[in-house]
Amino acid sequence: MADAVHAARRRIASAAERAGRDPGSIRLVAVTKGVEAERVAAAIAAGVTDVGENRVQEASAKRDAVAGAARWHLLGHLQTNKAKRGAQLFDVVESVDSQRVAEALAERRRELGGARLDVLIEVDLTGIRARTGVPEAQITELARAVTQLESIRLTGLMTIAPHVADPTDAAPYFRRLGALRDQLSEHLAIPMPELSMGMSDDFEVAIAEGATWVRLGRAIFGTRDPVP
Ligand SMILES: *Cc1c(COP(=O)(O)O)cnc(C)c1O
Repeated sequence: MADAVHAARRRIASAAERAGRDPGSIRLVAVTKGVEAERVAAAIAAGVTDVGENRVQEASAKRDAVAGAARWHLLGHLQTNKAKRGAQLFDVVESVDSQRVAEALAERRRELGGARLDVLIEVDLTGIRARTGVPEAQITELARAVTQLESIRLTGLMTIAPHVADPTDAAPYFRRLGALRDQLSEHLAIPMPELSMGMSDDFEVAIAEGATWVRLGRAIFGTRDPVP
């Protein structure tokens, strides 16, 4: 496990250097869906600081079982009725895609007290129906609504690029996310430092386009069974 984590970090660092960026400005989020708690704990012991899960239920069981401190990121679509549990369980929600979900997260977070919950808005740049994330045309309205909520804090944007045979073909999607982030940040006059983009097949391309968080599952844990 330590070898896999170090190998992923080396690839991140080389991609950063090729792009003229500081490798320290890129955070590795280890995506642990379908990965048993012991292996997650081993990854944390090997230096992983951030863990990403797709489902509230799976994360709920795992978080208790995993020894070791990490920041837990929710990456999957969140239903409003799971938002309360999500607000409690996660340190970061990367997949906010509606005002209702944002409001439910904020409400629960306010009840819990303590630090604000960091959230990203997930953007769908592919135009493929049935994909998660909000279309570009709705981002400004949603972002404005999110910034009105006191117990959550919008810190950036997340996207999943379409699956392409040649990872360099994903570059325009990553570049677009960066441009949208820049526009929004200026328009709303808030700092939005984070761009969560890039997965095992395309993270080096995402780093060249400005990713600050890369979400790696298979590159660390190997292939997984398809999630039903
Ligand atoms: C599964 C998943 C990842 C990691 O995918 P890999 O291809 O295994 O690196 C990243 N982000 C999201 C939203 C995912 O669902």
